[in-house]
Amino acid sequence: MTAVDDARALLATLTDAPVAGVWSAPGRANLIGEHTDYNEGFVFPFAIAQRTAAAVALRDDDVIRVSSTFADEPVEVSLAELDDRIAAGGLDWAGYPLGVAWALRREVPDAVTRGVDIALASEVPVGAGLSSSAAIEGAVASALNDVWATVLDKVTLARVGRVAENDAVGAPTGIMDQMASMLGVADAATFLDCRTLDTRPVPLGFADAGLSILVVDTLVEHAHSTGGYRERREACERGAAAFGVASLRDLTVDDLPRAQELLDDVTFRRVRHVITENQRVLDTVAALDADGPSAIGDLLVASHVSMRDDFEISVPELDLAVDTALANGALGARMTGGGFGGSAIALMPVGLIEAATDAVHAAFSASGYRAPNVFTVTPSEGARRDA
Ligand code: ADP
Ligand code: MG
Repeated sequence: MTAVDDARALLATLTDAPVAGVWSAPGRANLIGEHTDYNEGFVFPFAIAQRTAAAVALRDDDVIRVSSTFADEPVEVSLAELDDRIAAGGLDWAGYPLGVAWALRREVPDAVTRGVDIALASEVPVGAGLSSSAAIEGAVASALNDVWATVLDKVTLARVGRVAENDAVGAPTGIMDQMASMLGVADAATFLDCRTLDTRPVPLGFADAGLSILVVDTLVEHAHSTGGYRERREACERGAAAFGVASLRDLTVDDLPRAQELLDDVTFRRVRHVITENQRVLDTVAALDADGPSAIGDLLVASHVSMRDDFEISVPELDLAVDTALANGALGARMTGGGFGGSAIALMPVGLIEAATDAVHAAFSASGYRAPNVFTVTPSEGARRDA
């Protein structure tokens, strides 16, 4: 059963009304470009095959009812009360779909919105750093955009998803995840300039090169990430302020000597990560265009080292996943996502994946770490209507 089938089946338990449609959006993995999005820099994520689906039926009243295979009980809110319920908070998982409805109504104030039943089901692992949150936002935003006829384009729907996550759920994330989920293209990654929101799908050519991306989900929860994440953001803001620029995007590797003079050691290393990571994203895109995917491995490794030593957001489990993958034939490997836990990715020849998977399990066991989830992800299509 796919998420689309599961969402339909769940909707049928909620209502006898006909299905108005089913929409879905994928999770994402970030190939390179970490903690650059909120510095108005460059990122390079791809949508994965695992998706979250939203099956929708229209209602005769003004109630929006959301239900998920993830949750025990549906949550109901009348559209008239939506603003107050979002402001009051405490909606837990329902804050994501209801937050999208709220953000869409703010984006298009004169939209004729009506009551809907929304049933959600997901194949995206939750909290694994593969952005189940952007998947749920993208699925619901795409669905409501059609049933409420708000005719927004995909970039605007990504912005609506981010507003929901930032202002309704209260998670201070950048725009990368939503853009990756909305705009994904099969066998390509999305080069995104977070300042202009210009995007370009860049072919990855993994299949032709006999390569695949292995994910090691360490199952280390990034629950403590809120404080660390905020501290990193503040260090970046301090760095930009010391140069009198709007964001670290305005600096390049040529500014590093001056940064070292101006900044204390910790702030300097945070800034150096962001500046060099932006350059690595540009170099990765250029290397893919010129020489194909076998040429990007060293950039992935350099990105991991920078996050481990300069930005200090890795954990021992992530370092072990990266080192073990590299020792077992990966061309490159790095932690992906916000850090402090979550997943690492490795660019691997397909024929070595099974042995590398075994090696990762053995290494985790030998270190006394919890057994990780190890699986491959395939660069796939973004948000779409499925039925
Ligand atoms: P990640 O995006 O890395 O998976 P987040 O903490 O950003 O982790 O988002 C996970 C949260 O999103 C879940 O705890 C839940 O509240 C919500 N969520 C994701 N997918 C679903 C779903 N299918 N149904 C209900 N809620 C979901
Ligand atoms: Mg998320």
